[in-house]
Amino acid sequence: MEFYRETWVEVNLNAIGLNTKQLKAHIPDETQIMAIVKADAYGHGAYPVAFEALSSGATWLGVALLDEALSLRQKGIKAPILVLGWTRPADIAIAAEHNISLTVFQAEWIKQAREQYQSQMPVFLHIKCDTGMGRIGIRETEEMDALADAFRADPRFIVEGIFTHFATADENDPTYFNKQYQRFTTMLTQLMDRGINPNLVHCANSAAALKHPDKLFNMVRYGIAMYGLSPSEQMKSDLPFQLQQAFSLKTSLVHVKQIEAGESVSYGATFTATEPTWIGTLPIGYADGWLRRLAGHATVLVKGKRFPIVGRICMDQMMIQLDAPYPLGEEVTLIGSSGNEYVSIDEISGYLGTINYEVPCMINHRVPRLYF
Ligand code: PLP
Repeated sequence: MEFYRETWVEVNLNAIGLNTKQLKAHIPDETQIMAIVKADAYGHGAYPVAFEALSSGATWLGVALLDEALSLRQKGIKAPILVLGWTRPADIAIAAEHNISLTVFQAEWIKQAREQYQSQMPVFLHIKCDTGMGRIGIRETEEMDALADAFRADPRFIVEGIFTHFATADENDPTYFNKQYQRFTTMLTQLMDRGINPNLVHCANSAAALKHPDKLFNMVRYGIAMYGLSPSEQMKSDLPFQLQQAFSLKTSLVHVKQIEAGESVSYGATFTATEPTWIGTLPIGYADGWLRRLAGHATVLVKGKRFPIVGRICMDQMMIQLDAPYPLGEEVTLIGSSGNEYVSIDEISGYLGTINYEVPCMINHRVPRLYF
């Protein structure tokens, strides 16, 4: 991919492969891995991540939107894909045509889908159970009845899977997790009692897959840990294998100058030098997703040393304080390693008061991704 700027993301695909292979070794042989590549693979790039995960033991892909599934198909991905979110009933024809499985949890949805779907091609569906996440999914026995009736009425609609999603699998206290797990088991039994036996039963996200390898049914949905990030702070000290962060953010010095004591930097002139100070300018700003709030907290790495951001982060640029006149073009690391220093995604999410999931997602498409 060609690009003409001095700011880029490096994605270490080996790390993604390794994190996937290690999970494969950690879970029972019969349990498949669905690699979760929604939101452009949490900002890492859906196609390269999907390709790597599938080469490393994953057999399924999970996305949030039909558009994301279609984009993978257009790039030549043949593996089964599940859309985890709600899809418009009018769009099932395009899903069926591209062999994309959809999530279902409303009998009314099936009714509308049946009315609008003219083809005889099978539509593969996974029933979503809301066992405590409170987001999407069926909660009541009557809803299960209505779904089962709707499926019986139209053999084109095939129940390929049933699944749920945990709200607290990453937490130390297992009470809520166990409650959700029990509810899911009950709902699976209800479905089978109605004569429907789906091939795929899945409930685990990364946290559950890492912590409860005995409670996975026959597929796990592997997201954050595949990218080498811990599902939560609580889990960090108790991971069954080491995760390798795949995402680094780099830029380089495009301007270096010395300012005198009393001179200021950036909007609002909030930073004023107290002595002659070397200032470097970096071509990255909040329009790339490097948020203004990081100033005063995040540091960057040059030749293995940490340097502070000074003054306000601008839309496309920001300034750092240096200890010497480093040459133009010198590489600067915002996330990742330089020499013996390392800035983790968790460090950045800590400054922002958010979770690690949000950080690679927030570095937007203005920043090209390079793969190693
Ligand atoms: N399954 C569903 C339905 C999800 O929404 C997500 C992510 O939010 C995942 C699986 C993957 O979760 P994680 O990234 O915690 O592994």
